[in-house]
Amino acid sequence: MKDVLNTIDGEQRPPVNGRWLDNIEPATAALLGRIASSDSDDVDLAWQAANAAHPSWSGCTGAERGRWMHRLADAVEANGEELARLESIDNGKPIGLARTVDIPRAVANLRFFADAAGEDRSRLYRTGTQASNIVHRDPIGVVGLISPWNLPLYLFTWKIAPALAAGNTVVAKPSELTPVTAARLGQLASEINFPPGVLNIVHGLGSQVGESIVGHPEIPAVSFTGGTTTGARIAAKAAPMFKKLSLELGGKNPNILFEDADLELALATSLRSSFANQGQICLCGSRVLVHRPIHDRVVAELVEGAGRLRIGDPLDERTQQGALVSASHRDKIAACVELARAEGGEVLCGGRAPDSLPERCREGFFYEPTVITGVPMDGATNQQEIFGPVITVTPFDTEEEAMELANGTNYGLSASVWTGSDERATRMAKAIDAGTVWVNCWLLRDLRVPFGGVKHSGVGREGGEEAMHFFTEAKTVCTAEGTTS
Ligand code: NDP
Repeated sequence: MKDVLNTIDGEQRPPVNGRWLDNIEPATAALLGRIASSDSDDVDLAWQAANAAHPSWSGCTGAERGRWMHRLADAVEANGEELARLESIDNGKPIGLARTVDIPRAVANLRFFADAAGEDRSRLYRTGTQASNIVHRDPIGVVGLISPWNLPLYLFTWKIAPALAAGNTVVAKPSELTPVTAARLGQLASEINFPPGVLNIVHGLGSQVGESIVGHPEIPAVSFTGGTTTGARIAAKAAPMFKKLSLELGGKNPNILFEDADLELALATSLRSSFANQGQICLCGSRVLVHRPIHDRVVAELVEGAGRLRIGDPLDERTQQGALVSASHRDKIAACVELARAEGGEVLCGGRAPDSLPERCREGFFYEPTVITGVPMDGATNQQEIFGPVITVTPFDTEEEAMELANGTNYGLSASVWTGSDERATRMAKAIDAGTVWVNCWLLRDLRVPFGGVKHSGVGREGGEEAMHFFTEAKTVCTAEGTTS
């Protein structure tokens, strides 16, 4: 895709201002093409289209909306291989991951909420013999959706699907670092004649398009996934406008291994939870906390496992570690590792760019999986989100100490606990401040369950009913009994 265009009112449109951004391939640093560098004018056009489409979209039955969404899912599924390739090229992630995780999950998101669209969410409550209360859940109107670059189509559809299912029309912005699959989704929607104006996609910078969506006076709800600093900025801007906000933000998740765990399973999964998608998943377990009796073995096996991961061309089927999303992100991660060294950390493996890469990838933004020990829990390395292939390993002696370390950051997105004891698992899960605690597993996701974080990891929950509630307003109609017929 040479030009990444906006989808507005069912049409592919260049930005009103005629400005473009470069689209760079992370694995090669080559110029892939241009991205519309839109601004408030495009956001306003998208809003006008969404607003015009709202009465008919919200007025049709949930089942009809569901049928349209299944058609869109069919189109994504039919073009799955092309989308996986585009995602891999645009983001730097291994094609195998895009093919088995990103694109299938995008299809699943659309289908899950397509089915949810047809369900009746109204509830009846009788107040003795005095009155009946019917609680309706009405669509909000035009909603704003802003998503990040790490799981581009996966997280974009995770917002679009419930918003549309609930009867809203949308103005959505993907990350300008990875806009290609979102743009292709817009094209596919146009190709299947998805009702024009219902799904509008505007590309460009967060400081232009993102800010315009958040500041738009006629967009009353914004669902955002991204960094905590950006989330704080959005919250500050939206609060005086009394907007409804869902904020899914950063994490610094503990991955806790007790000596009574199934170590083989714990270690194999920990390797994935540390380095999958080059560590660029908000749910990665970047702080590995290990019971002292097994500490040395865990460290040795993580270092050995990290060294075995095959780094290479994301388009090579055998690649397990692709490129980081951008040069500046690679540089940020390198700076974090330098800081860890300055904090007294010992870098046991990684800590540098790989020196043997395929010719095509010599200029790409790669970084080796990195394992660090000996950094203090209150230092920057263990407190700030790095969001790359970098983990720290810290020993603990008691369950209480593990709990304290696990809760010892401002974040609270997720945690993993590895133990053979049901009682210990229950105590740990209760004590840990996080939206999700996995016991003896990681990243098992049921789309019906609430998903989100506490503390600086976010406000609100996505997933299942929680998402349908976010994208609707409750209205209670209380009728005195026996007064109407
Ligand atoms: P950013 O916060 O930088 O950006 C997220 C999105 O917001 C992008 O589309 C970005 O546009 C846009 N944006 C940037 N500035 C503004 C602004 N002032 N107003 C409105 N929108 C803006 O996050 P990243 O893209 O770097 O994503 C990585 C972060 O996302 C990590 O912190 C990660 O933990 C978090 N994340 C959280 C998840 C969760 O479910 N809790 C899931 C996945 C990631 P642009 O790209 O142009 O800057």
